[in-house]
Amino acid sequence: MADEVCTHLESITALRTAKIRECEECVKIGSDWVHLRTCQDCGVTLCCDSSPHQHATKHAHTSGHPVIASAEPGDRWMYCYPDDLVAEY
Ligand SMILES: [Zn+2]
Ligand SMILES: [Zn+2]
Ligand SMILES: [Zn+2]
Repeated sequence: MADEVCTHLESITALRTAKIRECEECVKIGSDWVHLRTCQDCGVTLCCDSSPHQHATKHAHTSGHPVIASAEPGDRWMYCYPDDLVAEY
């Protein structure tokens, strides 16, 4: 477990959790997902990189929102895209 933490991860003070347990982009196109991630900037819940459409990563690149947290029950980690860092909490 890395103890290196970037300013993006440091700035997360209150965790945003998934409001709905589905990827809203996959629902629109009738696709399936594997795991869910919640953007810590705007709170949108999208699918992970193991899913066919990787909406969370696309969202991070198009919106510039740097940090996601896993929305899976029991998972307690966040990931920063620009710094490629994982932080457990
Ligand atoms: Zn960062
Ligand atoms: Zn999706
Ligand atoms: Zn976002």
